[in-house]
Amino acid sequence: MRAAKRTAQATQESLHRIFTIAEAPDSTLGRIEQEMSQNLAGFLGNHIVATKNALSDIEQDFINAQIPEQPEFVSDHMQHLLDKLVAQSVHTSSASFIGHMTSALPSFILPLSKLMIGLNQNLVKVETSKAFTPLERQVLGMMHNLVYQQQDEFYQAWMHSAQHSLGAFCSGGTVANITALWVARNKLLRPDGDFKGVARSGLYAALQHYGYKGLAILVSERGHYSLKKSADILGIGQDSVIAIATDENNKIDCQQLKAKCEQLAKENIKVLAIVGVAGTTETGNIDPLDKMAAIAEQYQCHFHVDAAWGGATLLSNKYRSLLKGIEGADSVTIDAHKQMYVPMGAGLVIFKDPESVAAIEHHAEYILRKGSKDLGSHTLEGSRPGMAMLVYSSLHIISRPGYEMLINQGIEKAQYFADLINQHEDFELITKPELCLLTYRYAPKAVQELLARSDEKTQAELNLTLGKLTKFIQKRQREDGRSFVSRTRIEVARYGGEKIIVFRVVLANPLTSQAILQDILHEQTQLAQESENFLPQLLEAAKA
Ligand SMILES: *Cc1c(COP(=O)(O)O)cnc(C)c1O
Repeated sequence: MRAAKRTAQATQESLHRIFTIAEAPDSTLGRIEQEMSQNLAGFLGNHIVATKNALSDIEQDFINAQIPEQPEFVSDHMQHLLDKLVAQSVHTSSASFIGHMTSALPSFILPLSKLMIGLNQNLVKVETSKAFTPLERQVLGMMHNLVYQQQDEFYQAWMHSAQHSLGAFCSGGTVANITALWVARNKLLRPDGDFKGVARSGLYAALQHYGYKGLAILVSERGHYSLKKSADILGIGQDSVIAIATDENNKIDCQQLKAKCEQLAKENIKVLAIVGVAGTTETGNIDPLDKMAAIAEQYQCHFHVDAAWGGATLLSNKYRSLLKGIEGADSVTIDAHKQMYVPMGAGLVIFKDPESVAAIEHHAEYILRKGSKDLGSHTLEGSRPGMAMLVYSSLHIISRPGYEMLINQGIEKAQYFADLINQHEDFELITKPELCLLTYRYAPKAVQELLARSDEKTQAELNLTLGKLTKFIQKRQREDGRSFVSRTRIEVARYGGEKIIVFRVVLANPLTSQAILQDILHEQTQLAQESENFLPQLLEAAKA
């Protein structure tokens, strides 16, 4: 029996204890661990409470900027975490939370993550990672193989070579995209005669040496905002990321891409990279990668494919061809923490040419010595955890055919949901799913008919009100906490390219059933009736 009131003390003994002795099985932490390992979904379902707390209220629980002078017992602290943090978290793995690209995790991930954290290897150098370094190199090899399908001899020659790397493992798609464009920049503005290269002499000297007025990155208007961050930190400038128009299927218009390449060549602005998107974040569509590869070849520029979200589709023999032409890319970004069901913090960039990373090679005396197999000599990040182990294990435990089933069921579920929306007279499908992502909105039949017979000006007014209604429904649904869809604003060709607010769903969670999808439409229909202004206003207009 513990005393009712006790306070923790910061003593040598208590510090020694937290480094050596596990919490008892019947302690708060012990019970949490048991509950989580027996049934993670149940644990999350029990402890995340769906209350309508405003973020400003939650901030009150995290308001004190003092570092504690008084230590807490682990159990007391765990109770605090359950009450203030876990309870007010988002149930990302819930089968009815279909708004984001992060979904459920397989149950084996939890104990494996614990092992990974416990080992606490640092992948920056072999000295602190040993077997983790060859493991990560093998994962990069497998992912390279997924994209480029080279012969076995290729992988035997390059996978473990000290001077080469088939890619870089990093924290996510953003760092992967930055790394790809960093390589592209340094290869383009490489050392030449007396010029020491952009990496040493900087962008100003590089442009002068090569006689370019500027650099540009070309990507469709659906490109991810991480490309602008990349251009910013690489010194190229955000405005040098040039958005190319998309067609009615949200794919880059290759005519316009070519025209832009021509125009820039005349202005003496060098295209640093053409970026294809394989699964846009907002609509899930895939650019015509084969055509883009040919254009990049013609204009002699780096071709990068941002397949952060959609890259995992390559694991499906049935749908792999949706990304045809990806093998023409010089570099490819894939996030394992999206459709590969690995926890956050696992992104990759793969390079076609094993020599590419030489362009960003860095060495230091005490680590990353020349000729060492240290992964840190080719990565943007320094100290890095052994996340590659979770990708490695998932690839072994789930295997390619298992992933194929997950990918296929997501795509087919999105097709089912699109049918459901099309059949429901009060919903309007905005973008058809190509992968497992689609957008739609609530628009009563009468309003849809009115839209169809209205001129552009009236359409714009109606779309504005429909947008407010969509926002109202989405917020209420999120606050109610039973289910979640996200929302975004996209240009829609059928409304003259006007930006409209839509619901967005990503159907990656294998536990999302058809019944859940039906319920979501039902819930949205109900919530729409609670909007005091927007729905009556729209119905009134439709009657007139
Ligand atoms: C998610 C995503 C990114 C960014 O990846 P993070 O892992 O969030 O850094 C980049 N591009 C696309 C297409 C994405 O979907």
